Amino acid sequence: MEKKQFQAESKRLLEMMINSIYTQREIFLRELISNASDAIDKIYYKALTDDALVFDKDSYFIKVAADKANRTLTIRDTGIGMTKEDLENNLGIIAKSGSLAFKKENESKEGHNIIGQFGVGFYSAFMVADLVTVTSRALGSDVAYKWESTGADGYTIETCEKDTVGTEIVLKIKENTEDDNYDEYLDEYRLKAIIKKYSDFIRYPIKMDIAGKRLKEGSESEFEDYEEEQHVNSMVPIWRKNKSELTPEDYEKFYNEKHYGFDKPLKHIHVSADGAVVYQAILFIPENMPYDYYSKEFEKGLELYANGVLIMNKCADLLPDYFSFVKGMVDSESLSLNISREMLQHDRQLKLIAKNIQSKIKGQLQSLLKDEREKYEQFYKAFGRQLKFGVYSDYGTHKEVLQDLLMFYSSKEKKLVTLDEYIARMPEDQKYIYYASGESIERIDKLPQTEIVSEKGYEYLYFTDDIDEFAIKMIMTYKEKEFKSVSSGDLGIEADDKETETESDKNENKELFEYMTNLLSGKVSNVKASKRLKTHPVCLSTDGDVTIEMEKILNAMPN
Ligand code: ADP
Ligand code: MG
Repeated sequence: MEKKQFQAESKRLLEMMINSIYTQREIFLRELISNASDAIDKIYYKALTDDALVFDKDSYFIKVAADKANRTLTIRDTGIGMTKEDLENNLGIIAKSGSLAFKKENESKEGHNIIGQFGVGFYSAFMVADLVTVTSRALGSDVAYKWESTGADGYTIETCEKDTVGTEIVLKIKENTEDDNYDEYLDEYRLKAIIKKYSDFIRYPIKMDIAGKRLKEGSESEFEDYEEEQHVNSMVPIWRKNKSELTPEDYEKFYNEKHYGFDKPLKHIHVSADGAVVYQAILFIPENMPYDYYSKEFEKGLELYANGVLIMNKCADLLPDYFSFVKGMVDSESLSLNISREMLQHDRQLKLIAKNIQSKIKGQLQSLLKDEREKYEQFYKAFGRQLKFGVYSDYGTHKEVLQDLLMFYSSKEKKLVTLDEYIARMPEDQKYIYYASGESIERIDKLPQTEIVSEKGYEYLYFTDDIDEFAIKMIMTYKEKEFKSVSSGDLGIEADDKETETESDKNENKELFEYMTNLLSGKVSNVKASKRLKTHPVCLSTDGDVTIEMEKILNAMPN
């Protein structure tokens, strides 16, 4: 048995690796299972071109087994295995990836799904183990080798017995310390949960022996211990399935299993993009607003998978703020990951996916609006405010995305209408889109300013949300029609109703107006006669851009 040393740099690198690359210890299992899956994939690819090799799906699997008494965790695969050389190169040299080399050699082959690329994942085992033993027999070889290492100290290799082709990795799990608990990595239920979380969609079965208690046969009170081999992972993710095979219930179940929300999804979007960017996504528009939606705790984002393996729980870059209510996941084969595979390198692909997703969500909301009005209104009541905030905070182009989705309560329809519907109903002589701001519909109805607009037969929109008028100022015009507050100075209503004072009006009440202007000095800039009023004796109007309602809100804002 010969003892080899890691190169000096490698030693330090390994220590750095073990202690700082990963934020969560539990991912060691993701890494080892990913390697096992890659090893099986390699046989699969070989079988594609080698007639002597038959890939019989049933004989390929990954087995995870915990032994509490001996504090060992074993991950066994029936993959391609490693020769002595492979063990030295791939496990003895940090940052050397046999999988990356394999991928490059086989680039021409269809749909490679190999996960490995950095050549560091394996060493994450040392986060939880103080001794790692790898026994491997390579495909086509009669001899097996045992590679063993306690981490930074180097490794040993010797020949050993192994009946079948494949690799077995035994981790001697660390003892608990005051600060750290390692026992959890020997607990079957915890291990199963980790596998479900990160590796649920590995394409080969992951098996575990799960122990339990059950009633003894024929007895009604006596229990017995039993152990049963369970197939833990779902293998084929719902997002890779054909849409036509899936029912709304399947999507609902997925929403619940993923804990995206406690409600039911209002609508799902299943994307399978095959163009400039290749990705699959399942997105949900929730039924209700999450209880913490407007709190600091709320984090927007979608789950991000690279090739079926979970990389990030909440990838915020995938969603614009105005669609922050959307839940779901994205899986893509073409992302550049950073070394810990917990983050992305700034990625053009990701930007493209985000853009694509944004238009899918908009499209879905538009068709909801068109085809399922009631559902849309339910959505709008929960999240409409978010869309308006989106319009308001726009420095770019997303108001284009959002303005078609806005709704306001209408004086004519007595219900929510879109801007498009408003425009479609406008009489020919109407120049503006009128709106009236106020606390509530009832209060707006009492505004003297609305009378002249109504009398003219024009529709106006009720702006009862603080953000409404601010958002509309950002849009400025919709289909070339300007927005106009009913309380603004010039309403653009026909000449006979015009605001202009005649000389005689002015003189007739000259003294009274002077007296009133004095009385209200500092509160109003001018008092004059108006032809705008119908049943009310007086109203306030503004000349500038900022209306009375906006002024109230601005004044109420903390400085
Ligand atoms: P990566 O998976 O990114 O290549 P790892 O450090 O996880 O890096 O693994 C290093 C290399 O070791 C892999 O590329 C592969 O060649 C080899 N390897 C690791 N685990 C196995 C396994 N279970 N079966 C066969 N080869 C393996
Ligand atoms: Mg790996």
